[in-house]
Amino acid sequence: MTSREHKLQKPPVMIIALANMANARLLDRMLGAQFHLQHTLAEEDDETLLEADLIVADTASLQHNRERILHMRRRAAPNILPVLLVADSRSRLPPRITAELGHSVDDILRIPTNQAELQARIDNLLRLRTLSHQQETNRQQLVGVVSALRTLNACDRVIVRSKNEDEMLSSLCRTIVAEEGYNLAWVGFAIDRADKPIEVRASAGPAAGFLSELTLGWGSDAIGSGPAGQSIRSGRVRIVDDITSEPALAHFAERARAHRLASAISLPLIFESGLPGCLSIYSRNPGHFGPEERQLLERLADNLVFGLNALRTLREREHQSAEIHYLAYTDALTGLPNRRHLVHYLDGMLEANDNSETSGAVLFIDLDRFKLINDALGHEVGDQVLVQIAQRLQGAVRNADQVIRQGGDEFLVLMINDPRQGGTSTREQIIINACALADRIIAHLGAPMLEGGFTHHIGASVGISLYPDHGRNATTLIENADKAMFEAKRQGSGGRMLFSEDLSANRQQRFAMESRLRKALDNEEFELHYQPIFELDSCRIVAVEALIRWPQADGKILMPGAFMSVVEETGMIKPLGDWILETAARQLKAWHDQGYMLAMSVNVSLNQLYPGCIAESFAALVKPHVDPRWIHLEVTENALMVDPEAIETLLEELHAQGFQLAIDDFGTGYSSLSRLQHLSIQTLKIDRSFTNELGQPGSKGAALVAIIQQMAASLNLYTIAEGIETDEQRQFLLEMAGVNCWGQGFWFSCAIPANELVARLRDQQET
Ligand code: C2E
Ligand code: CA
Ligand code: CA
Repeated sequence: MTSREHKLQKPPVMIIALANMANARLLDRMLGAQFHLQHTLAEEDDETLLEADLIVADTASLQHNRERILHMRRRAAPNILPVLLVADSRSRLPPRITAELGHSVDDILRIPTNQAELQARIDNLLRLRTLSHQQETNRQQLVGVVSALRTLNACDRVIVRSKNEDEMLSSLCRTIVAEEGYNLAWVGFAIDRADKPIEVRASAGPAAGFLSELTLGWGSDAIGSGPAGQSIRSGRVRIVDDITSEPALAHFAERARAHRLASAISLPLIFESGLPGCLSIYSRNPGHFGPEERQLLERLADNLVFGLNALRTLREREHQSAEIHYLAYTDALTGLPNRRHLVHYLDGMLEANDNSETSGAVLFIDLDRFKLINDALGHEVGDQVLVQIAQRLQGAVRNADQVIRQGGDEFLVLMINDPRQGGTSTREQIIINACALADRIIAHLGAPMLEGGFTHHIGASVGISLYPDHGRNATTLIENADKAMFEAKRQGSGGRMLFSEDLSANRQQRFAMESRLRKALDNEEFELHYQPIFELDSCRIVAVEALIRWPQADGKILMPGAFMSVVEETGMIKPLGDWILETAARQLKAWHDQGYMLAMSVNVSLNQLYPGCIAESFAALVKPHVDPRWIHLEVTENALMVDPEAIETLLEELHAQGFQLAIDDFGTGYSSLSRLQHLSIQTLKIDRSFTNELGQPGSKGAALVAIIQQMAASLNLYTIAEGIETDEQRQFLLEMAGVNCWGQGFWFSCAIPANELVARLRDQQET
């Protein structure tokens, strides 16, 4: 029974305090069977008198005991201790006594009287007392409800305000203990392990030490037989009224006694997902957890579950939004921030520092020939290369700078110049720093990189834009750095370029170039020059390579490097390629007619071959003039890698039409010996960069050329060494390869117009 409940159960106690002893005896007789009667109002009996339910007095005893009676009535408050005054019907009541009605007296009974009258009066007064009792009980219950609500409220506040689970649980335990005066409150969770332990996550109360000595579990063994284990296992509230008398709890009864814990309640905490937990509360009083207490705590546990669920959902959402943020602002492959991040960050920085001296640079980095690695060695190798590049870039920049993957093989670096951190603020100094950073990046990336079984030499072109000079928002800055990079690339890979307004003009020039090229194509303004290919020993011309030239109105001649990229990009290469092939064939026919039986090399670019090149159409251009076997089509090693199977078939078809096939710039790509074996090719053109190195002390060129020569010999291929610029180089090659190798280069002749070539052929014939 809790303190909040109170009931009248025993027979009423009546004090008959009559001065008139005859009357006292009379009442004794009339009422003795129903009441527990007492005849004293003495002070020393105060505690027993507290039990009194009714006092019967007469005028004399009232006069004598008035203060005592008032005292007792006050002590009984808020319950009413009724007083019945018995007065002689024959004498008139003095006004003094009638004035007592409502103070020390509630009713006056005239005697003699009959049993029924007496009984009715007494019943009335006792009902009054019962009513006052009930009222008090109600009031107390109300107080109990208010206090329960207050506890709930306090706990709810804790639940709502807590930012994390641990904070919520420990504040809640503290609040429960403080509000309800328990000895111990704790929250634990079932752990998914073979031994099924319960992990205590929070506890509070003077007896919290009780837990530290205890092994808690939720299995069906002795350890799991505690209230917590039982409530977790069953999912129901478990109440222990007296810990010492429960045989199942014998193992911790002794400790509970030592910590003054007598009764306990454990409430299961069941969640939408995950293992349950429990809220366990201990009281020092046996039988403390009655229905009201239980109801309160059940509501509290419900709210706790609600709060924990809400917190977990929130955490999950936070986690998700962090993940979304990560995905949105990070490049998945390299883990670097992405372009979106840079735009966000840089725009924010530029906006925040509108008028300050914030300055710095955006570097746009584009890898040269990365596509080749991807095409030749597959995306996995390509990806690994990009990851290594990302690491190298991070190694090249300062901590304050940011490396960003823009996409594909393009990266950005944000160079932040902060004068407060010792940065320089003059524009010149920033340019110097940015250029130095670009050079460092190019050097870092250029170091040999081993990946996919090959050593790569990765060049990069870097464009630089400065803020705030070249743009006041990220998009413009990136765009301008991109333009600068494009220009750097156009001028030859491995360079850097600072943006300037002129670069935009360059773009314009490009468009102008395109329309001029179209006109040139229509008007047949192009020319072919022919670079002789000669035998290394006799130095006789045995073939020529057709190289395109574009004479300008001012008499200058544009070289292919200046316009072929535009031709390729705009698709003009198809008609121009056809014109080149046919013109070369027609020229060759003219020479053949004059008795100069040369072979003719014609360069074929990737965009001509793919997609949709038809070997027949190539043959159709050539056949009206010469047999295709006189024509060597030069395809760069890199072009072979794009769609290896399609190219392989195409080469076969071209060869079937009679064309001879050569791999141009051999050594700069990724051909393997086994790949070469499967290709219908007859000639390898050794790249100029190797020839260049011949004779240079300490260079690998000689070794590489030797390997290429051996490889060619084993595959029955001819070789042509490109870029022979000195006689020393020629002799070197001659010694190494003998008659299997032809040569080409400025040492002998650059590309010359047809009529000049005829003159040389004539000379040659004469000597
Ligand atoms: P390529 O096919 O490797 O042509 C050889 C290039 O090296 C030519 O440059 C040639 O002038 C140059 N060269 C030859 N000997 C030497 C030397 O001893 N030293 C140096 N430094 N260079 C030498 P060019 O004519 O400027 O052509 C450049 C590239 O443009 C060619 O490289 C080729 O890829 C492309 N190209 C030229 N003409 C045509 C063409 O008619 N069609 C296609 N598709 N591409 C062409
Ligand atoms: Ca060539
Ligand atoms: Ca070449």
